[in-house]
Amino acid sequence: MSVEDTSHAESTDVELGGAGESIRLEGIRKEFGDVTAVKDLSLDIRSGEFLVLLGPSGCGKTTTLRMIAGLETPTEGDIYIGDEEVTRTLPQKRELSMVFQSYALYPHKTVRENLAFPLKKMDLSDDERSRRIERAAEVLEISELLDKEPGQLSGGQRQRVALGRTIIREPRAFLMDEPLSNLDAKLRVHTRSELRELQQDLGTTTVYVTHDQEEAMSLADRIAILNDGEIQQVGAPEEIYQNPANEFVAGFLGEPAMNFFDVAQTPERIELCGDDPVPLTGPVPAPTARIGIRPEHVALASQHTDDEARTPAFSADLLVVEPLGNAYELELERGGVQFTARVRSLPDEVRTADSVDVVFEADSLNTFDADGSALTTAGGETDG
Ligand code: ATP
Repeated sequence: MSVEDTSHAESTDVELGGAGESIRLEGIRKEFGDVTAVKDLSLDIRSGEFLVLLGPSGCGKTTTLRMIAGLETPTEGDIYIGDEEVTRTLPQKRELSMVFQSYALYPHKTVRENLAFPLKKMDLSDDERSRRIERAAEVLEISELLDKEPGQLSGGQRQRVALGRTIIREPRAFLMDEPLSNLDAKLRVHTRSELRELQQDLGTTTVYVTHDQEEAMSLADRIAILNDGEIQQVGAPEEIYQNPANEFVAGFLGEPAMNFFDVAQTPERIELCGDDPVPLTGPVPAPTARIGIRPEHVALASQHTDDEARTPAFSADLLVVEPLGNAYELELERGGVQFTARVRSLPDEVRTADSVDVVFEADSLNTFDADGSALTTAGGETDG
């Protein structure tokens, strides 16, 4: 919605946000001297979507966001907002709104004045300005705080004011860099769900940077996973969790992490390597070099009812039992290879056992070639 569209609206009808615009990165590279922060990155962000850039520290997330914002210029490649090429357009001309980790509020201005600040350069009547401030405060449930100063607010309230400053301007997109990382754990989870709701209500394209996979999973329409300046996979959270494109994505997503095993394959059989090999049952694609299995798919044989397990029951040394409240994590070892199981309940005799019989559940294997690329879906079907 444009500025003109809202100028005659009644107070409660003021609409903030808007569909936002698509953002396209084409062949982006960014070098800082000898360091290549981003290598040949291409990404299409859809209008109205919540896209999370996720990856380990130093993988190039912030640099990518800063290039979209116009705070860094790519060494190579082009950036588009909608149909407009903006690669070298000044940040203030891009009409984007950015929220950082730190709240960046003016300490000696009231919440109302803080919210009014981004509207300063816009040609609005006093009435329209007030209506927008009240609407943003209403959406973020901070109406009763409008006359307070930031020092009188809690961390969560301050962060909401910072978000208010972002949504009040009707930007073409929101850019957020770990905006919740300064909040304590409980407030972070709460603010996260509020943020998701707010973005859905406003429908504004959002690009969000985090290294926290749980945050990414709960917020994103789609996640782009980065490593070492390169995109590894882009997809819906469940899709990349269940069908990771490669070993990096498979190992990065999930807590505890996926178990990996080298496998040896002959025309007759395929088995997990180690001093005491375990045969695999069922088909596995020919060039498989490693398999991955998530801890929740390693089951105790005594609790397992599925006839089509991907291994026969095999014995593993039980190294550690860690109770988690609603589940147990077991550290296991077979033939010199350690792995983790996560089970919902634990029979008494297992608690004190030195070894247990386990199986890998059916439809649970991810298979990878020698380069670490995925060969199959988790369902065991050959990809493509
Ligand atoms: P984090 O989660 O730790 O913030 P990130 O994924 O956001 O990491 P970036 O901040 O984009 O990563 O940094 C990517 C790489 O580029 C890193 O090696 C970093 O040291 C380097 N880098 C980033 N900005 C600069 C700069 N201004 N000058 C030199 N090197 C930089």
